[in-house]
Amino acid sequence: MELLDVLIIGGGPAGSTCAGILNKHGLSVLIADKAQFPRKKLCAGWVTPEVFKLLSILPDEYSESHILQPISKFIVWDSHNNTHPVDFGKTVSYGIIRKEFDAYLLGNSGVQVHENFNVKKIEFQKDRVTVNSSLSARIIVGAGGHFCPVSKALGNSYKDSSTLATLESETELDSETIKRTVPYPGAPEVIYLEAVDGYAWYFSKRNYLNIGIGSLDRKKIHPLLNWLLKILKEKNRLPEDVRSRLNPFKGHFYKIYSGVPKAISRERALLIGDSAGLADSTSGEGIRPAVISGMLAAETIIQAKGDYSAAKLAAYQDRIKEVFGKPGSSPPQHPPNPLIRLVFKKLLLGTGPGRNILIKNYFLHAS
Ligand SMILES: Cc1cc2nc3c(=O)[nH]c(=O)nc-3n(C[C@H](O)[C@H](O)[C@H](O)COP(=O)(O)OP(=O)(O)OC[C@H]3O[C@@H](n4cnc5c(N)ncnc54)[C@H](O)[C@@H]3O)c2cc1C
Repeated sequence: MELLDVLIIGGGPAGSTCAGILNKHGLSVLIADKAQFPRKKLCAGWVTPEVFKLLSILPDEYSESHILQPISKFIVWDSHNNTHPVDFGKTVSYGIIRKEFDAYLLGNSGVQVHENFNVKKIEFQKDRVTVNSSLSARIIVGAGGHFCPVSKALGNSYKDSSTLATLESETELDSETIKRTVPYPGAPEVIYLEAVDGYAWYFSKRNYLNIGIGSLDRKKIHPLLNWLLKILKEKNRLPEDVRSRLNPFKGHFYKIYSGVPKAISRERALLIGDSAGLADSTSGEGIRPAVISGMLAAETIIQAKGDYSAAKLAAYQDRIKEVFGKPGSSPPQHPPNPLIRLVFKKLLLGTGPGRNILIKNYFLHAS
């Protein structure tokens, strides 16, 4: 069995970013993924411009052969379900289709991918890590998303108080239907949920309509979806003929970076992206943290120069804390303090300039 330098489990944005850097550095790297690319991934598909910068992707170039929806405006619903456009007058963010985006990033990494390879067994040995008794490497990187088997091997649980429950449907329609149905094409509509921690969205990217909902209260997610669909119908966002054409709503969980910290490193292993639970606690944005953590893990591995002891790799945990803050320290949408929570809601649901500031700081990372 060939002994690789690095085996990365998961070819999403975290895995492909980390793999690309290590590959350029001359290490022997392999990505193993249970899916075959291009693969579907549940996601609203908002990508902040920082992601393009970090990955040196030119949006204009990407848009030549992929769907790239420039976003210059957000539509915020108030507590009476009235809409308030927050118009920036220029492109401030983008919408992508994950199936396309992730396949593009993976191709750019230049790394060999073992597709349809479902990692089930991970064995930590003295000088290596072996997976499914068939692939071995000096170090393994867990980039398998929320249910990553490497994260499980590090003792992390899939459920805790900062795990978001989501339901989402993305459907390709035709331009006539989009024109008839979507009042603000290309502008994400953000529907803040007063009753629970979380929000819903309604977003068209060219001819794709993406509708979803995310909440920390997993028990309420299905009733909330019913409420959302009803309200979208009442607000003429979802006529019956379009509703019946939507792809089925599917659910997924992922952890936001607050509350209980995860174990993200041990001897011969690091976790990145959703596997490490790094999504933004306010917006739920996970692609940017996935890319950043992929970079930090690659940097740590390169600097370790083959010494993958727990002590050496602990540097990665420190870097994550430096960049993302100590778990629970970011300004959350779910503030524990009721007073801060009240102020936050008043700003978002009120009529003043606070709404623009919140969108800018929490959804665009452009403070
Ligand atoms: C409904 C919803 C909406 C979202 N909207 C946004 C948004 O608009 N913007 C944003 O930035 N983020 C959003 N996110 C979060 C974002 O999707 C994730 O944070 C991001 O995908 C994390 O990237 P990753 O590379 O860590 O994991 P993933 O993209 O999940 O990739 C993990 C890979 O690991 C593979 N894998 C899993 N298990 C195994 C196994 N056992 N063996 C082998 N391979 C395995 C999977 O097939 C997959 O390809 C959303 C998430 C959800 C659920």
